[in-house]
Amino acid sequence: MVKFVYRCTVCGGRFERDEVRYLCPECGKAYRPGMPLSGVLSVEFDHDAIRRRFRRVTPDWGLFCAVEPQFHPPYAMAPTPFARSAALGEAFGVPDAWIKNDGLNPSGSLKDRASFLVVAEANRLGERTIVTASTGNAASSLAAVCAAAGRRAVIFVPKSAPRAKLAQMLLHGAQVVPVDGTYDDAFRLSLDFTARYGGLNRNTAYHPLTIEGKKTVGLEIWQQNGGRAPSVIVVPTGDGVILAGVHKAFEDLRDAGLIEHLPRLVCAQAETSSAIHDYIVTGHYRSAANPSTVADSISVSVPSNAHLARAAVLLTHGCSVTVSDAEILGAQRTLATTSGVFAEPAAAAAVAALARLRDGGHLEADDQVVVLVTGHGLKDVDAALRGVEMPAAIEPTARGLDSVAGRLAEKGAPA
Ligand SMILES: *Cc1c(COP(=O)(O)O)cnc(C)c1O
Ligand SMILES: [Zn+2]
Repeated sequence: MVKFVYRCTVCGGRFERDEVRYLCPECGKAYRPGMPLSGVLSVEFDHDAIRRRFRRVTPDWGLFCAVEPQFHPPYAMAPTPFARSAALGEAFGVPDAWIKNDGLNPSGSLKDRASFLVVAEANRLGERTIVTASTGNAASSLAAVCAAAGRRAVIFVPKSAPRAKLAQMLLHGAQVVPVDGTYDDAFRLSLDFTARYGGLNRNTAYHPLTIEGKKTVGLEIWQQNGGRAPSVIVVPTGDGVILAGVHKAFEDLRDAGLIEHLPRLVCAQAETSSAIHDYIVTGHYRSAANPSTVADSISVSVPSNAHLARAAVLLTHGCSVTVSDAEILGAQRTLATTSGVFAEPAAAAAVAALARLRDGGHLEADDQVVVLVTGHGLKDVDAALRGVEMPAAIEPTARGLDSVAGRLAEKGAPA
């Protein structure tokens, strides 16, 4: 590890590691429920030290990590697959399309990256209880990491979260608090809970190490891509922490002298849950009035990290698009049938964005375009089943088999 300080992303104030925990003590005062967080902190490493010590051939990623290895929980994480998909590219008219499959993290979503680092921090601080609000994945992930670390997870989650995610939290032994309300209600309640009863709060962006944790997906893409930044990375966006984390990854790589140009970052949101998109396009912040979408993981009225997410897109000369639920479910099927990857609806929003990017003239012919698949399709089977039809059962006889041959003939030979 190299030394770091926390820097306030609003006033630029710098703080020692144990001087602050969540937001900038000054700018954080401006935060009101119903608005994005203000005074989110960013980890600022000694980049000269990283420059001197980092080797491309034998990379020590510990240099980019804000918590010492002795505190890391015994939760086995491995780099997730990164591969080109010619068939997906062909389906969307994007010649050089790549998939980063973060649905293959242990709990089935990218959230493991943030949970891992925040639980490591809890270990360092000696905090026994970690509290979070979640649409579902942050909670299932925190529950899993806490189980491995022998810590207690207290989770505020909308009672409407997909059943598989609720099953994960319960099975891993978390203290689950279903909220008869929205994710935004859960966010506010969990902040009040830690303010009153203590514990470490893992709310996204509120704890600065959630951004650092999610950053590792960007570092991994760089390494798996042969030490090069891709041209474009498409990020499905709810609170905007993945977007800010990917941005931070490539900024750190640039400041360490490992790349010159940052990838253009694309914010992909659901049509009804588009507060960050609207903020990017209009320059004015407005919460999403009714963020109901099949993509539950990106359904948020007040995105906590709206300011940094917008900056990530503007500073990388990226862009933002929204997609409808029908496009999301269509893209989920296209991804599944062309590449063999089963993504949950939120992740499929990034795939659906490909068509918008292509039609909007946002892509050059030789762009290397990476789609971040953030969560596994088995997380929400009910959503997936909405777009497919179960064939009628056959009778268990030779006549039944003949009917199968008939069905196959109808469909014609595979190409
Ligand atoms: C959390 C999540 C997102 C969005 O991440 P934000 O940091 O909230 O923008 C996207 N996809 C999946 C599957 C997620 O779980
Ligand atoms: Zn500040």
